[in-house]
Amino acid sequence: MKREANCIFCKIAAGEVPCFKVYEDASTLAFMDINPANEGHCLAIAKGHFEDIYAAGTGEVGKVAETAAKVARAVREVVKPAGLNLIQANGPGAAQSVPHFHIHILPRRLGDELKINWGLKPGNRAAIAILAEKIRAKIG
Ligand code: 5GP
Ligand code: ZN
Repeated sequence: MKREANCIFCKIAAGEVPCFKVYEDASTLAFMDINPANEGHCLAIAKGHFEDIYAAGTGEVGKVAETAAKVARAVREVVKPAGLNLIQANGPGAAQSVPHFHIHILPRRLGDELKINWGLKPGNRAAIAILAEKIRAKIG
């Protein structure tokens, strides 16, 4: 599997950096975003290192999208949001901050006024851990 030495998501995929995991299969991983824009914000990533949607093969993108769909259903059950966005950034113009292909599963609240380039603010880790457990249980 392709890997980049200094990539935080490669380290998470390898289990070298901890995460609040909600789902894993042979080629993808999903975990809680540590700077949640809203409660229940998760990320689905490819385990292999692909910088963006162009570097990832279409098959790889499809696998991550499948994982994002599974996570979205679980997040909806647990958080009961008013809506949910899947967001996927490529390159600086799209404010991609981690150059390792990933899809945001981002629950929305009515009137949250969230902008597409939201600022990163650390969440409460204990609360994130509890949500991760609930979402993981729903995916089964
Ligand atoms: P991007 O800006 O590339 O679309 O999204 C990257 C996301 O990764 C951000 O929402 C950021 O909060 C999240 N992130 C960055 N570093 C870490 C980390 O070490 N752990 C977790 N769980 N999320 C991270
Ligand atoms: Zn990587």
